[in-house]
Amino acid sequence: MGNAVENSAVKDKNILIIGGGLGGLFTGALLAKNGAIVRVLEKNVIIGGGLQCFSRNGKSFETGMHIVGGFRPGGTLYKLSSYLGILDRLQLEHLEGEYADTIFFADNNLSFRLPSGRENFTKALISYFPDEEEGIKGYIDAIFSLSDLLPLYNLRERCDYLINPPEEFVMPADMLIARYVSDPTLRALLAYHNSLYDGVKEETPAFIHAVINTLYITGQSRFIGGSLQLASALAEVIINNGGEVLSPKEVISLEMLDNRVISATTGDGKVYTADYFISAIHPATLSSMMPPHAFKKSYSRRLNEIPNSCSAFSLYIDLKPGAFPYLPHTNYYIENENLVWQQEKYNRGGEIKAFMYMTPPDQHQGEYASRLLVYSLMSFDEVREWENSSLGNRGEGYEVWKKGYKDYLLDKLEHLYPGFRNMILHTYSASPLTIRDYYNTKEGAIFGYRKVSGNMAFSHIPAATKIPNLLLTGQNIGLHGICGVPINAIITAEELLGKNFLVREINRCVR
Ligand SMILES: Cc1cc2nc3c(=O)[nH]c(=O)nc-3n(C[C@H](O)[C@H](O)[C@H](O)COP(=O)(O)OP(=O)(O)OC[C@H]3O[C@@H](n4cnc5c(N)ncnc54)[C@H](O)[C@@H]3O)c2cc1C
Repeated sequence: MGNAVENSAVKDKNILIIGGGLGGLFTGALLAKNGAIVRVLEKNVIIGGGLQCFSRNGKSFETGMHIVGGFRPGGTLYKLSSYLGILDRLQLEHLEGEYADTIFFADNNLSFRLPSGRENFTKALISYFPDEEEGIKGYIDAIFSLSDLLPLYNLRERCDYLINPPEEFVMPADMLIARYVSDPTLRALLAYHNSLYDGVKEETPAFIHAVINTLYITGQSRFIGGSLQLASALAEVIINNGGEVLSPKEVISLEMLDNRVISATTGDGKVYTADYFISAIHPATLSSMMPPHAFKKSYSRRLNEIPNSCSAFSLYIDLKPGAFPYLPHTNYYIENENLVWQQEKYNRGGEIKAFMYMTPPDQHQGEYASRLLVYSLMSFDEVREWENSSLGNRGEGYEVWKKGYKDYLLDKLEHLYPGFRNMILHTYSASPLTIRDYYNTKEGAIFGYRKVSGNMAFSHIPAATKIPNLLLTGQNIGLHGICGVPINAIITAEELLGKNFLVREINRCVR
């Protein structure tokens, strides 16, 4: 690590961040490290948003960040965490085994095991589909080239626009796959990561498919002991640099004077002033907290009208000791290959036809797993009839509905692992309503705004707003998840620090 260069743009400036999820905390840590006095206000008791974990009967469960990428030496998250001085604090298990993912197509009883690493991943695909060798190689080259086009994802300096992006960049991802390979099972297989980004046929741009697939192909990792540790480490950077992270503190309104935000008021009546305000929550929620006419009508309308990604149904299983093996890979269950695109659409009407499951690692992980997490994409429409209910008071109909989905998932697991129900101590579940209410996100959208190929401009919201001291960050201003939100944090922080300042600093400080 080299010594950091001081940036006077934010030195001793008070910055107030609304929302203590990955976006708010990452942006706050980057600014705090560069001299800003950062205060984060988080509405929940526990910080972290999607990094949040909950504990029941002595076991902790991750709510929204199960697998991560970029943490191997040289990776973007590795460099960013090193720059912030938190890498040593993070306990990660890198999936290095024979294979990192298993994909099971139930209808034709086909199972695929795919290892990490570009070369091994390619070889494994070719071994399953030898007749498609040329197409597989072309497809892998294409996705790695597409993700290489995004400078910040590779921590390279950016210019204003992507110069001459190839036609493949924004073409729908399913078309990109079909351009290279023709076997229908192989086409479906190449889309197995769809549950990690809500991949939709004829909609999801190829570059999103490329960024997420290359991230996980290059190497996936899991947090040992839960994703909350990343939130805690980022909060410490803020606190150690003179800032604070306060929770529970729900911001209910922002006040303005002369086209500048002057304060944020929380539900307990406290008023917080600052030089700059950064919203790390859903932009539609922010818009509802602003004074009338703060934003132009067209902007507010757009924040509310951009379609959101889907939501999810999660099942958390507390396992009996010594009952179920620890699985050092991630598992994807897909009822049939036609369901791989737009999984939320098929996970409806009481049935779940595609889901991902994994056993999170414990400290000193042994042969057996202590927990199993299952998550499936789900449309908010499934719970719309209870949308006006609140946590704990949703009524019997909702509880029956929820139990139905839980049983459906357990039946599938029982089929995969006979005797599975007997291995369970407790189960807990979360629906799109739980997600909506915990994260305060519109319709429980788990990945923020939906990106639609052919209309990228509509869903693109810049970090800067027309209000000079109000910025946005988090998953809604770019890509979601571990690969997107930290990059969006750089973009937001560089609005204040100067374009490319952080990228230069990270590359200079971290070898
Ligand atoms: C079930 C599920 C599984 C996922 N799996 C993965 C995965 O395996 N890998 C991956 O990379 N990504 C995954 N994701 C996505 C990832 O969790 C998110 O992209 C990421 O956490 C979003 O970060 P964020 O800071 O933008 O938003 P959030 O995490 O939603 O943070 C926003 C924060 O703002 C707070 N807030 C809201 N309103 C207010 C207010 N008025 N005042 C104060 N605070 C407020 C919220 O409580 C929340 O803490 C998953 C998400 C879900 C839900």
